[in-house]
Amino acid sequence: MVVDSGRVYRIEDYRPSDYLIPRTRLTFRLDPDATQVVAELDVERRHGAPLDAALTLDGDGLELVSLTLDGRKPAAGTYDASPDRLLLKRLPVKDAFTLRIETRLAPAANAALMGLYLSNGIYCTQCEAEGFRRITYFLDRPDLLSVYTVRVEADRAAAPVLLSNGNLAETGDLDGGRHFAVWHDPHPKPSYLFALVAGDLGRLGDSFTTASGREVELGIYVEHGKEPRAAYAMDALKRSMTWDEEVFGLEYDLDVFNIVAVPDFNMGAMENKGLNIFNDKYVLADAETATDADYANIEAIVAHEYFHNWTGNRITCRDWFQLCLKEGLTVFRDREFSADQRSRAVERIGDVRALRAHQFPEDQGPLAHPVRPRRYREINNFYTATVYEKGAEVVRMIRTVVGADAFRDGMRLYVERHDGQAVTIEEFVRAFEDASGRDLAQFALWYHQAGTPNIAISESFDAGAGTLTLDIEQTVPPTPSETRKRLMHIPLAFGLLDEEGNPLAWQGAEGAAVEDGVIHVRKRRHHVRFHGLRQRPVVSINRGFSAPVTIAHQRPPHDRLLLARRDDDLFGRWEALNTLVTEALIGAFRTILGGGEPEFAPELVALAGEIASDAALEPAYRALALTLPSETDVAREIGNQIDPDAIHAARQKLIVEIARTNVDAFAEARASMRDGRPFSPDAENAGRRALANVLLDYLAAASDAPQETASAYADATNMTDRFAALGILAHRFAGRPESVDALADFERRYGGDPLVMDKWFHIQATVPGPQTLDTVRRLKQHAAFSLRNPNRVRSLIGAFANANQTGFHRRDGESYRFFAETVLAVDGFNPQVAARLATALRSWRLLEPERQAAARSALLMLAEPEGLSSDLRDIVDRTLA
Ligand code: ZN
Repeated sequence: MVVDSGRVYRIEDYRPSDYLIPRTRLTFRLDPDATQVVAELDVERRHGAPLDAALTLDGDGLELVSLTLDGRKPAAGTYDASPDRLLLKRLPVKDAFTLRIETRLAPAANAALMGLYLSNGIYCTQCEAEGFRRITYFLDRPDLLSVYTVRVEADRAAAPVLLSNGNLAETGDLDGGRHFAVWHDPHPKPSYLFALVAGDLGRLGDSFTTASGREVELGIYVEHGKEPRAAYAMDALKRSMTWDEEVFGLEYDLDVFNIVAVPDFNMGAMENKGLNIFNDKYVLADAETATDADYANIEAIVAHEYFHNWTGNRITCRDWFQLCLKEGLTVFRDREFSADQRSRAVERIGDVRALRAHQFPEDQGPLAHPVRPRRYREINNFYTATVYEKGAEVVRMIRTVVGADAFRDGMRLYVERHDGQAVTIEEFVRAFEDASGRDLAQFALWYHQAGTPNIAISESFDAGAGTLTLDIEQTVPPTPSETRKRLMHIPLAFGLLDEEGNPLAWQGAEGAAVEDGVIHVRKRRHHVRFHGLRQRPVVSINRGFSAPVTIAHQRPPHDRLLLARRDDDLFGRWEALNTLVTEALIGAFRTILGGGEPEFAPELVALAGEIASDAALEPAYRALALTLPSETDVAREIGNQIDPDAIHAARQKLIVEIARTNVDAFAEARASMRDGRPFSPDAENAGRRALANVLLDYLAAASDAPQETASAYADATNMTDRFAALGILAHRFAGRPESVDALADFERRYGGDPLVMDKWFHIQATVPGPQTLDTVRRLKQHAAFSLRNPNRVRSLIGAFANANQTGFHRRDGESYRFFAETVLAVDGFNPQVAARLATALRSWRLLEPERQAAARSALLMLAEPEGLSSDLRDIVDRTLA
């Protein structure tokens, strides 16, 4: 483990390495406790580098067994090896030489899950960002591209499957029951894309023929017996390959594409060249064990990792500051894929909800950073919602600004120019400038400036003149180490509507560039005037969430209700409703704090009934519209002095009121969604289940009786319905026999299936109320729980901290203390997971004073020990700063 050195990495310190490693030959003799790794590196001095340049190879906790240079042991004093680096001085004056480095590893003891480790008996690797240096000494940086040949040797019985990147070159037997395989990857790649897998795995095979006729062998490797559960992932993979050819003209470039599912994985999945390694949660699915949300995640993540083959692998990052170059772009691509495969409007609403839930609090709190950061202490901590999700929004805005055609040309230019290179965001942006002829200098601030911009809008209509004026003002709030902000280029898609929600004609606009339904805000203030209007229009703004900003829009309440009913931009319609409901909840929250009884506008309450029965709307949209903002959403919108108990009370009050008022409409709509068709995970059927289950929760709230939900649980024929019913029982009827029985039944059915048990942990960790801390404490001791498995930690501890406002923010601070102890325990062996977990405290300053003080002491508890990992130290220091 890397103990924090306090070192800060700065973008301006980038400089190319003095040496290159054009070819890398690796031999692994696998053993759980003593794996031998032999690296033969063909090293070349970079043209123009000083003849006496030293070579410093990165290491992390390595044990050097032997070293030769061109076959000879280097003289004493010409090299220096420590676990963290190998320094070679007085290198030969000739331009090229070969290093042979032997290291020894103990994969069974590697609980950080970086480098080479064992997961459920399977050898696997994780090298992004800096894991390769835990395998051998290397120039472990993304701009150092090398062609790899990898020989893997292992016991044949323990590891019949031997995989690495690229194409299989050779296999054979060895003495002592061992065997080997040699893999060769012809595409030069950075070390973070290296991968190796060896073990006893089952395989689901298939094939794909690319547009230009290349036959690609596809394999998904999973635990024996789980092959059928990989069928959906395989289907998603083939659809991804077709889509990338059709939409981006990008084809696969090797003879083999393999995916391996492992149960112990720090993140979602990894795009290693030709050998993607996945958290098994994002591969395995069938009707009995996976929810519709799981299926959708699998589809998106399989696509994401596959799309990296071009955006990330063929064209990679110059340095880790450029992480969004591959991640933002690839998230953008996987979202476009999901939108094409499913419902564009529904996907967009889901993405925006996720952005607000994860990225907005990051951007508005102590961990804020630009999409393209300029400094970091620990790169692992920059795999953030800002880099990924806001990064994807920025790419989406480039398309809005330059237009779909120029965007396509820009992508083509980017690939043409930079295939085989390690590049920067500046080069990415330049491709779109060159393709469109537009200057994107101001726009590029989206990459360089942190913080969520705010847009304030007020309207005035002059009936006599037939003009509408929009006063638009932008502000970008200060963020850590960026106190003064520059003005941004913010593209606001909009529509002017009549009372029926139809587009209203206007004749001209001045005060800002208004093109193709987009107002381009570039100055602090714009007075945008529209002429030739025969009536006062209702303004639908930031349609499709064209810019990731917050908006304060002064307008008659009538307008918002009209948009919530009639906006023909479905995102805009959802957004209007969401704003109305959020405002109602905040009002109720304040009333409750003041000791009063909240009341809700009858039109709003009735609207829910209209939406539930509106057959013109797809069920998935109706389900989203009827899902109230979460307690966390409401807390974020309140913004300070947060008291989660009052938010919970306000939200439940509104649910019950909506439920009681619309009970008949809801019952009817639910019945119409349940058609007894056999299970199919497609978007349409998933949407019907989503609506039926949202309505089930309302019906349970209306009756305040668990029977209907208990029957829904018992009669469920798929995990989506079973999980939804269990959640309602556990959350709404906690402690009642129906709830206790269902939880016990679920445990009995799925106790042997860790991924399904994660759902069981999650549901119990998110039961509202202070007593849930005791449940979480107890479940931490459950036989199916382990702190060593990141999925378990996330489903119990992560869910408790991030999705249980009333439980985690217990007034007495006990949950915080428990949380800090747990984070410290995890930090002892898995710093990445510990640091990620600790970000749950990032919004502590927004709490009311008592909780704020308690959260602060928990953070101080985290800051206290010496020998914290650099990952956790970085998060804690920034959170407290
Ligand atoms: Zn990615």
